Amino acid sequence: MPHSSSRPPTTLHEFQLIETLHRRYGQTGPNVVRGIGDDAAVVTPIKGHETVLTTDLLAEGVHFDLKTATFEDIGYKAAAANLSDIAAMGAKPNYLLVSLAISSSQTASEIQQLYRGIMLACRPYGVELIGGDTSASRQGLFLNIVLVGSVPIGCALTRNGAHVGDLVYITGTIGDSLAGLRLLSVRHETKEALLRSVKRFTLELTRRHLRPTPRLEIGQALSRRRLATSAIDLSDGLSGDVRHICEQSHVGVEINVAALPVSSALREYSDMNNVDAIDVALQGGEDYELLFTVAPRHRKKVEQLVRQIDCRLSCIGIIKPSSYGLRTKDQSGTLGRLPMLSYRHFSPTHNHYREKSWSR
Ligand code: ADP
Ligand code: MG
Repeated sequence: MPHSSSRPPTTLHEFQLIETLHRRYGQTGPNVVRGIGDDAAVVTPIKGHETVLTTDLLAEGVHFDLKTATFEDIGYKAAAANLSDIAAMGAKPNYLLVSLAISSSQTASEIQQLYRGIMLACRPYGVELIGGDTSASRQGLFLNIVLVGSVPIGCALTRNGAHVGDLVYITGTIGDSLAGLRLLSVRHETKEALLRSVKRFTLELTRRHLRPTPRLEIGQALSRRRLATSAIDLSDGLSGDVRHICEQSHVGVEINVAALPVSSALREYSDMNNVDAIDVALQGGEDYELLFTVAPRHRKKVEQLVRQIDCRLSCIGIIKPSSYGLRTKDQSGTLGRLPMLSYRHFSPTHNHYREKSWSR
């Protein structure tokens, strides 16, 4: 994005922006002692709870592309990614802080659209905007979100509690977001053009990429009832994220490839593009589904619980001793090594969004 040095610095508009935000989103509940407008926000801690904090930094050209996403999409997804981290801890999201570095090419209306997207994702969960920071950027837009959540003391779902014999579950379907990203990027069309032109599966997959659903209800239900031994959200892709659980819990895993939940949209996409849907599902990043482990004695309770929430749930494997390593089992029972596939966010200098390395 070209930088025009003749343009006045963003700070000139900063006060207006803050005022607008304050007016639009500044209404807060009784736990916010001071919100937007002071030097720092002040909130009352929730009795019997621990505070859960997470942050994400998104850079234009690395994490998002204005050719394939609207400002509202970008705001929504940034918020959803943070909400998903809170969900993976089994926590409830409470407060939000947003920091921006705005380039000279951005208009006030675009920044307002960005906030509309952020608040669209946050509002259903009662998350309150309590502050942030605003700066100019010489090149491209930067967006940082901080989310503050809470969880009853000792109930947080962590990555280090999986035991040998635990069942491995995931919510929803996986691989959709990666397929959506490929559709958006390869065609280099705007979302609007895509939506006008095409098939149902394209719409569904691009929506999964641009508007992911954080699994907050499930995360909180699991933590409150202490039903999961460990949890993580699928942001980098199954093959990478399950590795984090295994490393931190000092265990291995066997993933039943036939049980991986693949949507009919991804199947259609894979058939048309001659790719293996299971491959996309194993690699896929940014699905923001939850992966968690459950002691076998809680199997029925968990399945019942998630059915009540009306979310698809799949048991995709079992935790093994660490000496077993990380393996896949196919339909015929043949074992293979779980490939290490790390997710590469959008980057204009790379045509491929994946790097393959078989490090284990
Ligand atoms: P300071 O100079 O003390 O950091 P600022 O002028 O940056 O103060 O911020 C004033 C108030 O506006 C603070 O409450 C801050 O949290 C809020 N704020 C600033 N920028 C943003 C933003 N982009 N989004 C939300 N709140 C913001
Ligand atoms: Mg400031």
